[in-house]
Amino acid sequence: MGKIRLLDESVVNRIAAGEVVERPASVVKELIENSLDAAARRVEVEVQGGGSRWIRVADDGEGMDRDDAVLALQRHATSKLAAVEDLTRIASLGFRGEALPSIAAVSELRLSTAVADGEGTQVEVRGGALVHVEPCARPRGTTVEVGRLFFNVPARRKFLRTTATELAHVVRWVSRYALARPDVAFRLRSEGGVLLDVAAVNETLERVRQVLGAGRVETLLRVEHETDDGRVWGFSAAPAHATARPVQHGFVNGRAVQDRLLWRAVRDAYENTLPAAQGAPFVLFLELDPREVDVNVHPQKTEVRFARPQTVYALVREALARALERPSAPRYGALRHRNAPAQEGPGRREPVIAEPSGSAATGGEGPPEGPAVLWGMRERGPWRALAQLRQSYIVAEDAGGLVLVDQHAAHERVLFERYLAAVQQGRVEIQTLLFPRTLELELESWVAIEAGREELARLGFRFEPFGRRTLRVDAVPAVAAHLDPEALLRELVDEVQHARAVAADSAALRRRLVTTAACRAAVTIRTPLGAEQMQQLLDDLATTDHPQTCPHGRPALFRLPLEEIERAFRRPVGRR
Ligand code: ADP
Ligand code: MG
Repeated sequence: MGKIRLLDESVVNRIAAGEVVERPASVVKELIENSLDAAARRVEVEVQGGGSRWIRVADDGEGMDRDDAVLALQRHATSKLAAVEDLTRIASLGFRGEALPSIAAVSELRLSTAVADGEGTQVEVRGGALVHVEPCARPRGTTVEVGRLFFNVPARRKFLRTTATELAHVVRWVSRYALARPDVAFRLRSEGGVLLDVAAVNETLERVRQVLGAGRVETLLRVEHETDDGRVWGFSAAPAHATARPVQHGFVNGRAVQDRLLWRAVRDAYENTLPAAQGAPFVLFLELDPREVDVNVHPQKTEVRFARPQTVYALVREALARALERPSAPRYGALRHRNAPAQEGPGRREPVIAEPSGSAATGGEGPPEGPAVLWGMRERGPWRALAQLRQSYIVAEDAGGLVLVDQHAAHERVLFERYLAAVQQGRVEIQTLLFPRTLELELESWVAIEAGREELARLGFRFEPFGRRTLRVDAVPAVAAHLDPEALLRELVDEVQHARAVAADSAALRRRLVTTAACRAAVTIRTPLGAEQMQQLLDDLATTDHPQTCPHGRPALFRLPLEEIERAFRRPVGRR
């Protein structure tokens, strides 16, 4: 007898579940897609434990009759695809007939549904096995409850992150579909608390405001570009509003995707205007002939393949380039400079010209190389300031030769070490704002801030919730008193979000936060400095533990030893 046999359906479903259901948010995503495909006008999502414990997605869509309700849980059962040609013109979000059986295979699932108000059907499945089917009374629509996700796949359960992280993923998917479908009302609740509650609206911009907050909308440029190849439209932030962890939502024919090509086209359009390692928040919709897009390349349907990738790239890039080029393009609100000083408040220092870190002028990423570093570790100061080069570098000398100091990197280093020490010792100087500022956060940030609350307080920020998704900030660290508290706090919240995503420990988080604050607070390049200021900076730098680099690891100083100078001038070396 041969050794090959067909796997039974429960095994097949378990395998498929591994691809389709990666984490609670995958379940939320699939169920929302089903609701939207069923023409729901309202979708309600509720989770507990970030979705690991319990998920419920309820809609008022077309529902299913008893036979369909049972069939829907079978593998490859779908109402959305009949023949193979349909695959080339998919208009629905689902089509694989895999989601429900996959989810059911790895959870306890209860589906209740009705095609009209009144009599409906309830089906219960546990680990893929049908538990029972019975009639139930309910309004038209469908509710799917998913409990104990991965209860029978301990290996997968182990991979689940903290509740906060899983919740952040859920929030992202709900936000995405809320953005894609402004005509549908969405509500998201977690542990009973409402995180998002948006009514149906006519305009995508209105929905962007509902989901991302009015503060974010102010920073957006409108994107609109159409050619024979397709249409790109939506919103993207002006370069000054780039952040380290931008909220970026891309849609292809209404489907939320994570497509590298799309991201790269956007990134390239911003070329030279964005600091390294930062990105612009965007919400972009790409509309193409469905025949030009293969959506059936990924079990989670979050990736697509384009028939003509070059064309799509060019289309997106051009759309963004146009939006960025035209200052007269419709714009929402004034563009505030990221380092604009707080308008009020005592203790305000000179405004600082914004200079993104990591721009070409301060050198690229990566570890510093060469003798400057080695030298810096052996010897430091005293340095004597001679002049300023291009309003960016301090030209100095010491016993060994000529020293060039990057004023931004050096100041960053000084602020970083002092600030970190102060944070560690709990003696951060704070500056109370004369006029407290309110800060409306994106939903994801709002969820994230809880995780970073304590650390931000240690850093010298005082804030408290002020209505839904809004913080009132009434004190900032004195070191950053000259900065726009809103921009800085937003950036720090981004850092908290990122730290959680990579599961950084609290010491690492603290260093990152301090690094970012120091970077923003530091004097920028292309800032004229007086002789005294330069000397002070050099003296301060000499007292730091690592004068040779900035806290990001880029060189802060560069040295030309006297020997090299002498050699260059063909003088006898070393004879002084
Ligand atoms: P797919 O969405 O790829 O068709 P699913 O497993 O997600 O596969 O769903 C199977 C079928 O169940 C769908 O094709 C649809 O007919 C039905 N269905 C699922 N969810 C809903 C819902 N919320 N409302 C109405 N019908 C639904
Ligand atoms: Mg589906």
